[in-house]
Amino acid sequence: MDRDEFKKHGHALVDWMADYWDRLREFPVRAQVAPHDIYEALPAAPPEDGEAFDSIFKDFEDVLMPGITHWQHPRFLAYFPANVSPPSVLAEMLVSAMGINGMLWETSPAATELEMRMIDWMIAAIHAPKDWTGCIQGSASEATFCAILMARERATDFASNQLGLSGLGRLTLYVSADAHSSITKDACMAGIGEEGVRQVPVDAEGRMHIGALRAMIKSDRESGAYPMMVVGTAGTTSTGAVDPLPEIADVAREEGLFFHVDAAWAGTAMVCPEFRPLFVGVEAADSFVFNPHKWMAMQFDCSVHLVKDQHQLTRTMAILPEYLKTIEDDRVVNYRDWGIPLGRRMRALKIWFTMRTYGLAAIRAKILQHCRWAESLYDSLQDNREVELVTSLNFSLFCFRFRTENAASSNAFNQAVLDAVNQDGFTYITKTLVGDKLVLRFQVGVWDAEAADITAAWKRIADIARQTPVPSATE
Ligand SMILES: *Cc1c(COP(=O)(O)O)cnc(C)c1O
Repeated sequence: MDRDEFKKHGHALVDWMADYWDRLREFPVRAQVAPHDIYEALPAAPPEDGEAFDSIFKDFEDVLMPGITHWQHPRFLAYFPANVSPPSVLAEMLVSAMGINGMLWETSPAATELEMRMIDWMIAAIHAPKDWTGCIQGSASEATFCAILMARERATDFASNQLGLSGLGRLTLYVSADAHSSITKDACMAGIGEEGVRQVPVDAEGRMHIGALRAMIKSDRESGAYPMMVVGTAGTTSTGAVDPLPEIADVAREEGLFFHVDAAWAGTAMVCPEFRPLFVGVEAADSFVFNPHKWMAMQFDCSVHLVKDQHQLTRTMAILPEYLKTIEDDRVVNYRDWGIPLGRRMRALKIWFTMRTYGLAAIRAKILQHCRWAESLYDSLQDNREVELVTSLNFSLFCFRFRTENAASSNAFNQAVLDAVNQDGFTYITKTLVGDKLVLRFQVGVWDAEAADITAAWKRIADIARQTPVPSATE
């Protein structure tokens, strides 16, 4: 592809992107293809000779687009959002054109120093302690993995990196039963093992039960284990619940545990003074993660990992072969020592572009708007006989289920409604379990959504539920 062709197709693609955002409401939210459809439609081997870009792009539209689930769709209510702001897309275009790898300060000083500054901005934006520092990781899963490794090193006096874990005894970490599955996965990768992950029961509101946490730590110590860490969740994936962070912080301090807070989704709400009281206790954390790529529209992937003591992180993650030593090592930050991969994309640019384009005030307004729309729907459902509100409203998320005459058929009925809603494609929702109740999640968070989208989505869900036959209670 020569430069002129690149310009021509590049400009056309930018037009396509903007039109795509305008056309989103025309698409089904969730892709409506069957497994293997896309795979079978693609040739089994690469072409021997190059093809014209127009024909490649035509296949993108004809073959791939039907298999795209539209995360920016104004009626996307599933999981959590993965918003992109237009300036974050422009930033990513520049980054990919330059193919920057910011593994060391020297391999792009601007990448490292912009990242340092954007971390300062994020700390200021969410009112985190000013003496924290951190970096941008690819995902909350990665950040939490690093936190678990830090905790493991601290608990073993930095022996586990050196000696491995064998013979060091059973290390345990504590999370709520509603904590994200990535924490268990991370613990497995860190050699803690699934058995080392103690799932503390939650109360009726989905919050970690502190009495149970204390009891579990005590009994683990008595049986010879080494409790090393507690993870509090601020905004669980299931229900949006916030664990009692100040109490967890007390336990962590008294028991000498490493304290990590997973605020992957809800952390963005810390930009709003209205929500900050919910996050009291965060300031006691050793490590904290939130994903600007979820609710802050910084385009996947962008996960901000903040730590109280950067030396604990770098001592855990640093490894220095001769070929990576540079003359400036004593005077600069080398972010390769702050996370898992050596190579690092310049993710800070999309934070810079997005923050400067909108400013904090606009981000606050978006978050509050989403929460208000969810709240007004939630309030209107309080005396709706068809619906049981199973959880409180947490930020912009609540869980509900449709009532059935026979309670035994409730789970099967709500599963059937979920399938019908997502097959219909007008909107897209997901489910979770609250106790043994299968519930549907309603989560508002797409940046381009308008109040009318939320009302229309709810109306369609309720209509579909009315048309869905109630399965017989006998499975
Ligand atoms: C989304 C989410 C995660 C996982 O985030 P990734 O960045 O995809 O790894 C972890 N914890 C919570 C609470 C989440 O909402």
